[in-house]
Order: sequence, then structure tokens, then C-alpha cells
Amino acid sequence: MSNQIFKVTSYDKKTNARRGIIFTNHGLIQTPAFVPVGTAATVKSLTPSEIKDCNIDVFFVNTYHMLFRPGLEVIKKYKNLHEFMNWKGPLMTDSGGFQAFSLGEHGPRNNPISQTDHLIQINDEGINCKSAWDGKNLFIGPQESIKAQKILGADILMSFDECTFYPITKKRALKALERTHKWARICLKQRLINQLLYGIVQGSVFHDLRMQSAKFISELPFAGFAIGSVANSKEPREKVFQVLDWTLPILLSYLKPIHFLGIGEIEDIFISVSKGIDSLDCVTPTRLARMGWIFNKEAGLKNKFRYDIGRSEYIGNKTSLEKGCKCFTCNNFTKGYLNHLFRCRELLYYRLATIHNLNFFGNLMKKIRQSISEGIFTDLKDNWLYG
Ligand SMILES: [Zn+2]
Repeated sequence: MSNQIFKVTSYDKKTNARRGIIFTNHGLIQTPAFVPVGTAATVKSLTPSEIKDCNIDVFFVNTYHMLFRPGLEVIKKYKNLHEFMNWKGPLMTDSGGFQAFSLGEHGPRNNPISQTDHLIQINDEGINCKSAWDGKNLFIGPQESIKAQKILGADILMSFDECTFYPITKKRALKALERTHKWARICLKQRLINQLLYGIVQGSVFHDLRMQSAKFISELPFAGFAIGSVANSKEPREKVFQVLDWTLPILLSYLKPIHFLGIGEIEDIFISVSKGIDSLDCVTPTRLARMGWIFNKEAGLKNKFRYDIGRSEYIGNKTSLEKGCKCFTCNNFTKGYLNHLFRCRELLYYRLATIHNLNFFGNLMKKIRQSISEGIFTDLKDNWLYG
């Protein structure tokens, strides 16, 4: 692997959007990239070649899940996650911290101010948590997180941080920020070979805290940056993008890739990319597919570019899921058939719907990258959002 980690190949003239390439030991990631979530070492229902065929270069696996099921000892037998899953391309793993919070049955989503309860205990060293599956105790701190991510062998790792949920007091957000910064230094001490470690910016919805975190994290020798605890923690929508406006001017002054954690609505992708984000991850296309939501540009912004395939109006409908889509599902099957499969909860539905939705996202990102190269990103954005 050469020393080059990230190269920008085109800048948009009207916005901060940029097209580039992240170089990893398992191939290139073309940016801006959408990163699907393969929580339990699978993008649910798809094979690796099907994921690749959706124009997807990289996906996310959740460290927390891997720690419990199948466990690191099992992954070690296969060398790494790539071998375990037979996925040849780049992979990302998270630090495990976010799941430790969000999976707590009585966790901080129900008790956002204190962020402590009997299933999760956070202290300055890390997080004590109980398995969501069998109640087994587990401690994850910065060292444990990086050691686990080294064994998993992903190409892009996240530093161990303390996530915050909304609403939150400033005092509590500051505490989480201080821990995140302390842990960032510990994460960086671990020697990584051919793995890129991203530092995570915290600070919740507080301007000064976000600025402080962006400055601190950007001055450390991370390979890239990620922006955490804003897109998936129930913050008001305008705050989500304010956080980008506060932090990106600092982060963009370094030539390093920037990931936005947990963003996946189409409008939000356009806004994030226009502000300078290089990659974003979300469960949107895959989870919503399983719930019956099919992405379609014609459904428009007001419907968040999707429709409910289970509706009776689609019974016997002989058209494809989306006019003009060339995915395997649209080439071979009709809305009427998918409607039937969904109503019967047939396994084939989940596969076919996921293939279409992931193609929708993969192809959108490809169009966005091309539009940046051709200097027409704003036209594309306006066409989708206001056309
Ligand atoms: Zn399709």
C-alpha cells in the first residue's frame, strides 16, 4: 500500500463538494461514498458480489456485535472479517461505543440526561455494558476497541468515543467530549498496519464544544475524521447541519477524508456532500427495504423519494419498481410480484427490495461523483430536490 491515503480529483466550484479516492489495502473507495451498514457481518440478504454490483465500494460492520457474535476468536480463525465474509473490498468498523449505548434496554434513549443505568456504566476508562443477547458483561475502552478492530481487520477504523444523545445538558456534553479527546490519544498509541484510523468529533449541538473538538481532533495524526452524535441521536434537523457548518471549515483545511456517521436520507446526502462530506453511512436503504419502502426518484422530496410497496394499489401492477432502473430486481420482476411477496413476508422480497434500494443509493452516489467532475453538482442537486 502506498502512503497516499486520500486524493481529491475534482472540486465543485459553487459548493464545498469534492470528488476523491480513499486508498485502502483492499482497494479504492470512490468518494463521495454511501456506506451501507452490515451490522452482523452481512448487508442483510445480499451476497458480496450483489453488494459490489450495487456500485458499493465499502460497508460498515459493527464491532459491538462482532464481540458477542461470533466473537473475536472465531474471526481470528479466518484471519479477518474480509475472509470470514468473503468480501474482497474495503470495510469500515465502528468503535463499539455507539452500540453499547443504543442497545441498552433501559439505555440513554429513555434517560438522555443522565446517560447511565444498570445496563451501561460509563466512566473515564470506558464503558461497562451487558450483552443485549445473553447478559454477559463486557468492558470496552479505547484500547479494547482498537484491539478488537485490529483483529477484525477493517480498512477504516473509528476511534473510541463517547456518544451523546439529545437532549443533553452542556455539562454532560462537555464531559463526553473530554473523554472522547482523552480516548483519542490512547487509540492513536496503538500501532496499525494498513488500517486507517479516523478521529471522531463530538460536542453535541453546542457551537463552542464542536469547534473545540474539531480543532483538537484535527490536530492529531488521524488518517481521517468522522462527525459523531448528531445524525442518529434525535437532534433537531437544523442542528445536524449547523454542526457541519461549524466543524467542516476546520476539518477541510486538512487533506483528509471526512465521514458523517449515521446520515442516509437523500436530501441529507445532497446537503452533506455540498458541505464537503466524503462518506456517510446509514441503515436507510436496507432497513426501509425490509419495511416495505422502495426508493424511487419520482416519489419526490415530499415522500422522501420512496413509496410503500405493500399498498393495495400495487396488487397486480406489471411495471418495475422504478422506471429506467437497470438493477436485477427491476430487470426481472414487477411491483405486483414484490407487493405479493411483501404481503406474504416471503424471504425473496427482502432480497429483491434490498437489491433495488441499494442500487438506488449506489447509482445516486455515482451520479453525484460524475456531476462534481463535470461541474454540474448544483444542477443535479436542484434537479433532485426542487426539480
Ligand atoms: Zn431497480
